[in-house]
Amino acid sequence: MATRLSLTLLTLALVPLLTGCGNKDKISDEFFPMGGIPMRITGFDVSQSKFDETFERIKSRTEELEGLLSKYIKDTDISRLNDQGKATVSEDTLVVLEKAMAMCVSTDGAFDITMAPVLEIWQRAAKSGKAPQAEELASALERVGCRKLEISHSQSRVTMTTPGMEVDLGGIAKGYIIGEAAELMKKGGISKGIVDAGGDVVLFSGKGDQSFRVGIRDPLSPSDAPKNIAVLSLSDGAVVTSGCYERYFELDGEKICHIIDPRTGQPAKGPLSVTVVARDASSADAYATALYVLGEEDGFSLAKSLPDVDAVFLVDDGKGGVAIKATPGLAGKLELLKEE
Ligand code: AMP
Ligand code: MG
Repeated sequence: MATRLSLTLLTLALVPLLTGCGNKDKISDEFFPMGGIPMRITGFDVSQSKFDETFERIKSRTEELEGLLSKYIKDTDISRLNDQGKATVSEDTLVVLEKAMAMCVSTDGAFDITMAPVLEIWQRAAKSGKAPQAEELASALERVGCRKLEISHSQSRVTMTTPGMEVDLGGIAKGYIIGEAAELMKKGGISKGIVDAGGDVVLFSGKGDQSFRVGIRDPLSPSDAPKNIAVLSLSDGAVVTSGCYERYFELDGEKICHIIDPRTGQPAKGPLSVTVVARDASSADAYATALYVLGEEDGFSLAKSLPDVDAVFLVDDGKGGVAIKATPGLAGKLELLKEE
């Protein structure tokens, strides 16, 4: 399986002009959480000591959250839930689970954190080279459905109502983590900053001045020489991309996406990529996954109907190239890059 797809953070071109201070006032450092994703923290107009203090806080908070939300680490809230079918969980886990439930409803089931039994069948199929049996998929689908998960907020209790269910927060946890990192920067007195986790970003400048330029990767460009196809100019918010051009399995020479359509049990066959711009990073992350599942027509209609959410769909133009569809809220913020 190839590495995570990415948005590339471009220059911060307008910053020096608007603030009168150059890049010498920018401090940046990175660490590698979540299985080795580079998480880069950048603060502007901040002292080195304040930055270092905040950076350390972000590192321990990220570690803490991974220790609650990951299904791959032993004894996390999610691992205990998956092992025992019920668990008492922390406030953070409750917040993420409740957000995931709201996303499941808002996307009519396209975003579903219980789809793991189906994803695992496809992963095994890709390993063995044998396509899954229809009965096997049908039986896994009986264990899928966000309504089969019960959450009692007052008791911090989560219960799976069907045996053999599994929760996987892979489509939302990273968004929550980068959102929390940005909050820590603001709380630490940093008024302008960037959190960039492998291309999924949160930006804040508090000035409404479109200070940041975020590149959207051309999904047809090779991963060892990635190119951007467009640039978003933003002042605040989260930008998260989902797609399968880099993260997929293969079966009979066909690309099998790691994003599953929970309504059919089939790997999603969405557009080339979906980039979501939203105020809140966990919403941006969940919507990117869901809009990818819903595809070019239904996904784009949903994106247009959602307040505070915008999206850029990159689709096959039928001529071997890429066509771009963006929601009207991005007018004046999205610039297409010309081919060199
Ligand atoms: P992302 O890269 O944010 O689109 O998330 C993809 C990851 O989310 C996958 O690797 C799975 O762990 C999980 N996932 C796959 N399909 C779905 C889905 N339909 N709803 C929620 N999570 C999903
Ligand atoms: Mg996602």
